[in-house]
Amino acid sequence: MSVAAPNWRERASVIRPDGRAWIDGRPVNAASGATFEDCSAIDGRAITAVAAGDAADVDVAVAAARRAFESGDWSRAPLRERKRVLRRFAELVAQQRDELALLETLDVGKPIRESLAVDVPGAARCIEWFAETVDKQYGEIAPTDPGSIALITREPLGVVGAVVPWNYPLIISAWKIAPALAAGNSVVLKPAEQSPLTALVLARLATEAGLPDGVLNVVPGFGPTAGAALGRHLDVDKIAFTGSGEVGRHFLAYAGESNMKSVSLECGGKSPQVIFADAPDLDAAAACVALGIFYNQGETCNAGSRLLVDHRIADDFTAAVAREGEALQLGDPLDPTTAVGALVDRDQFERVSRYVQLGITEGAHVVSGGARVREDLGGYYFAPTVLAGATNAMRVAREEIFGPVLVSIPFSDEAEAVALANDSEFGLAAGVWTADLRRAHRVAAALRVGTVWVNTFDASDVTTPFGGMKRSGFGRDRSVHALEEYSQLKTTWLDLH
Ligand code: NAD
Repeated sequence: MSVAAPNWRERASVIRPDGRAWIDGRPVNAASGATFEDCSAIDGRAITAVAAGDAADVDVAVAAARRAFESGDWSRAPLRERKRVLRRFAELVAQQRDELALLETLDVGKPIRESLAVDVPGAARCIEWFAETVDKQYGEIAPTDPGSIALITREPLGVVGAVVPWNYPLIISAWKIAPALAAGNSVVLKPAEQSPLTALVLARLATEAGLPDGVLNVVPGFGPTAGAALGRHLDVDKIAFTGSGEVGRHFLAYAGESNMKSVSLECGGKSPQVIFADAPDLDAAAACVALGIFYNQGETCNAGSRLLVDHRIADDFTAAVAREGEALQLGDPLDPTTAVGALVDRDQFERVSRYVQLGITEGAHVVSGGARVREDLGGYYFAPTVLAGATNAMRVAREEIFGPVLVSIPFSDEAEAVALANDSEFGLAAGVWTADLRRAHRVAAALRVGTVWVNTFDASDVTTPFGGMKRSGFGRDRSVHALEEYSQLKTTWLDLH
C-alpha cells in the first residue's frame, strides 16, 4: 500500500504553532504579555504570535536553569540516565520530522525537501551522538611525583546561554544544546526573532523525553532586549553564540561588563573556492561550487562565496557555475521539487540587492541572476547570481553578503591563489580543487580557516569540529571537542604520605 505524499501547502494552512516561551518545563507568556508577529519567509503571511521575551523573562529562565542545575537532578544524574533521556529526545525529534520541517521551512523559506532531509535528521543525529558521549568521557591522572596523585576531571559550567541565528535554527540550536546538556549544564536558548518556532518545539520534546524542568528553557525575543539580557546576566556562566560579527563583538563586551562569563563565537565567513586547472572533474566541481553558494539561498555562514579560479579556465568555469545555478529549481519552498527557496525577509533581500548594485558600481559584471524573481509568490526570491570581473579588493569580495551571490576572481599561480584566499578578515572554511595530492596538502596547510574541503564542499558530520579562525570567531561546534566548550577542568590533588 502506498502512502500519499504530504500536501505541504495544505498542512501549512492549518498548522497553529504555540508561540509561548518555554520556561521551567512549561509554555508561558512573556511577563509583559507582549508578543510579536512571526511571519513566513515564503509569502510574508503571519504564522503566529510569539512571546516577546525581555530581561524579565530571561531572569525567570536563568533562575529556573540555576535551580535545576543546583538540584543535581540533571547535573549530577547517573550518566546512564542522562544518556537515556537525550537518546529519547533525539528519537522524538526524528519522529516529529514533519512538524519540525514544516515550521523550519515556513520561518526560514528554505526548501521543504532540505528541511526534511538535512535539518531535522541533522539535529536528531547531533543530539543522539552527544547522548552517546555522556558515559564515554574519561578523566586524567597527572604525571606528578610519587607521593601524590592529581586527578584532572571535567565539570559542567552551570547555566549556558545559547544565542542562535535564523539560517539553520534547528541544526545550530542542536549543535549548542546537545553538548551543553550532555556535559550536565542547564541551558537558556534564545532563537532569532525571524525563526523561533522549531526551538520551542525542541524544548517541548526535551521535556516529553524526561529532561527535568528548568534544564532547557527557550526565550524568544529580540536581540537588543532578550539577547543582551542573556549576554549581560550575572548568573549565566557561558554564552555560545552563532551570528554576525557585529553582534559577536557585543557579546564579548557584555561579558566584560558583567561577570566575565566565557564566550564562544561563530561569526560567518567569505569562504574561498580555489579551483586549479588540474581539478579532477571540472564539470562536477562547477556543480558543487554552485551548490556551495546557492544552497539555502546562500544564507549559509560557510557558503563558498568567493570563486578563485585559475585564469586559464576562469571564463569557462565561471560560465559553467552560472549555468548550474540557473538550472536549480527556484520556487515555492513547500513544493518538494524546489531546490532554492525564499530569502528570509525584506531586510535580507535589500541587503543582497544593495551588494549586487555595489558590485556593478565597483566594476564587476553580472554573468547570471542579479535580480528578484517570482514576485507572484509574495516572498523575496533572488535568482542565483554570479558576478565576474571582480577583484579581491572589492567590497563584494570582502564582506559577507549572506545571499545567493558568487564573486569570481582569477589567479595566475598557486602562490597568488593562497594569498588571495587568505586575504580576508574571515577564516571559516575553504574549498580546494586539484588532482595533485602534494598541492592539496600544501594549500590546505597554508589556509587560515577552520575547515578545508578538498575536491568537495560542505561535507559535514557531527564527528568533525566546526568553527572559524580570525574574525569568523573562536570555539568549535560538533565533535568531542565541543564538550570542552561546555565544561571546565578541575584538579584534585591528594597527598599520599
Ligand atoms: P545576528 O548576529 O543579527 O543575530 C544572531 C542572534 O543574535 C539572533 O538571535 C539575534 O536576535 C541576536 N542579537 C542581535 N542583536 C543582538 C544584540 N544587540 N545583543 C544580543 N543579541 C543580539 O545574525 P543573523 O542575522 O541572525 O544571522 C546571520 C549571521 O550569522 C551571518 O553573519 C552569518 O554568517 C552568521 N552565521 C554564522 C554561522 C557560523 O557558524 N559561523 C552560522 C550561521 C550564521
